[in-house]
Amino acid sequence: MHEFTVSVAEILGRPGAYRDIHISRSLPGVRTTLARLENDLEARLRLESVVEGVLVTGRATGGVLLECARCLKELPAQIHVDVCELFYGPGHQPPADEDAYSVRGIELDLEPMLRDAVTLALPLNPLCKEDCKGLCARCGKDLNLGDCTCTESESDPRWAALDAVRDKLPQ
Ligand SMILES: [Zn+2]
Ligand SMILES: [Zn+2]
Repeated sequence: MHEFTVSVAEILGRPGAYRDIHISRSLPGVRTTLARLENDLEARLRLESVVEGVLVTGRATGGVLLECARCLKELPAQIHVDVCELFYGPGHQPPADEDAYSVRGIELDLEPMLRDAVTLALPLNPLCKEDCKGLCARCGKDLNLGDCTCTESESDPRWAALDAVRDKLPQ
């Protein structure tokens, strides 16, 4: 299917009845500062009728592009997100403090749920490798490729102060 809106007319109000679906489509705009969803999102979900509404369970998979938080290298990756969400049916109100999803008429709009789940699953601090050395704060060189010359050519201001003191000492 290429739509996030699915009919639950056949299962609504019949606890135990279910429908399995497979959705494959893009979900634009799902991103954090250092990660974004690329390509289509694949979701294999079971929509199961329960007393309170429809329970949606399953897994969504998508290709993401991450940016290393230290060296900014782009890293393609896959994410897998397990979902388990209740969509409240007609006549069932979610608790007031709960940010819940609801059945709309005879349909479920799965997009907000998938958008939330994937966004939460994106890494906040992706690294190309555990010990990534990052970029030099002065010259911007990728220190994974070797040391830069910044630190050698400039003396540390603390040592400069010490040198000044030493110059005043009697030899
Ligand atoms: Zn890196
Ligand atoms: Zn440098």
